Amino acid sequence: MDKLFMESIDAVSAYHTFSREESKLLSVVDKAADDFAIGEFEHYINKETNPDMQKVVKKNNLFGIPVSKEHGGLGMDMLMAVLTNQRFGHVSLGFPTFFDVNVFIAELTLQRWGTARQKMRYLRSMVKGERIFSFALTEPEAGSDPSMMKTEYEKRDGRFVLNGTKYLITNGSIADNMIVFAKSKSNPKDITAFIIDTNDKGFGVGMKLKEKLGLFTSDTAMPVFKNLEVSPDDVLGTEGKGLHVAYSALMSGRMGIASGCLGVIEGSLKAVTARAKERVQHGKPIGKHQLIQRHIAEIRQNLEMARWPTYFAAMRAKEYDGEPNNPSLRSEMDLRTSLAKKIASRLAFESADRAVQVFGGFGYSLLSPVGALFLDSRVARIYEGTDEIQELKIASKVLGEGFEAFS
Ligand SMILES: Cc1cc2nc3c(=O)[nH]c(=O)nc-3n(C[C@H](O)[C@H](O)[C@H](O)COP(=O)(O)OP(=O)(O)OC[C@H]3O[C@@H](n4cnc5c(N)ncnc54)[C@H](O)[C@@H]3O)c2cc1C
Repeated sequence: MDKLFMESIDAVSAYHTFSREESKLLSVVDKAADDFAIGEFEHYINKETNPDMQKVVKKNNLFGIPVSKEHGGLGMDMLMAVLTNQRFGHVSLGFPTFFDVNVFIAELTLQRWGTARQKMRYLRSMVKGERIFSFALTEPEAGSDPSMMKTEYEKRDGRFVLNGTKYLITNGSIADNMIVFAKSKSNPKDITAFIIDTNDKGFGVGMKLKEKLGLFTSDTAMPVFKNLEVSPDDVLGTEGKGLHVAYSALMSGRMGIASGCLGVIEGSLKAVTARAKERVQHGKPIGKHQLIQRHIAEIRQNLEMARWPTYFAAMRAKEYDGEPNNPSLRSEMDLRTSLAKKIASRLAFESADRAVQVFGGFGYSLLSPVGALFLDSRVARIYEGTDEIQELKIASKVLGEGFEAFS
């Protein structure tokens, strides 16, 4: 098993006793991540979406990790989903982004807010690996402030009709279903979450976003809805309370992003350790130069600093998921996941930057093992709530009543 992954499992085991099934699954994850890394590296160099993600998750039965057994999942602790995402993040953030949107966001949101019918129809087939989801909140003019969205719905003959465009949507051109947020045409203060089927008439993909700075293996697209009809059975949560659903989805999503970032830090550390021993300059391996040792020490330190807020957030998740409407649990979860995402994403980017420095000129290439980590970790400070939005949320929790940010 990967040495750094084992170290992380060991760290977690101070707080969590792994069952035999969980230990077995972690070995499966470790091997699957190594196998996946080879193809991922090639797709990354070619700057193309990696089509194998769904297959890998399905084949290794990873879709259902944190989903309850009642809904066909493995019913495992959130820490298991975090460790899985972390291990796949050693090579890039492509897989963790895919896993985050499907598992941390879509499945947990369906489990939390879905009706019995929605869980039967969507959640169960997701767990089996038969459906890919995406989460469509952002629009060209509504990013950090989703209340500015223009996608709207109206009721016609007992059905909802959606019109609008979403922007920067992960899995946006490959998903079977989407959780889409739209504003009521008659009462624009009401935002509702809908589950839509991308095979339905009225759904289209405006464009695939290929000019990204990185994250090449993850699909990002611009879905368009033109008179797309949705059944009232596919309203997710309460009509008009869509932002409540969106913000709770993003809370879980932040754990997914933080765990992918732990993977980036581990991937950086692994790569620089090997390089520092192999690369000889000025008559000795560069790892014997103290200034290179400083980079290695800083990355190791970053791993330690990013790990605990992420694992701690995951440990609190079960309690929140048991009572998603409990305001104090929700507030605690909001703070924990904001801290985890803000800390882990910054430290991932800093670690990958140091890793590029240790690699020198070769590091500034997609052919090195650290180029993708550097490019991909930058987006983690932007998607699912920018650094600044996390700061506002963290500060508002410190300041207390009257200083609320977005929840
Ligand atoms: C590769 C990629 C994948 C993505 N995947 C998805 C997805 O699957 N689903 C989805 O819905 N979205 C997705 N997004 C969108 C992402 O969540 C948004 O980009 C992000 O929320 C920021 O919105 P914005 O880009 O419109 O920036 P803006 O909101 O325009 O922000 C610009 C700057 O202003 C700052 N700012 C804004 N408001 C405040 C404030 N009140 N106080 C202080 N500073 C502020 C921001 O922090 C930022 O620095 C993705 C983005 C990328 C790049």
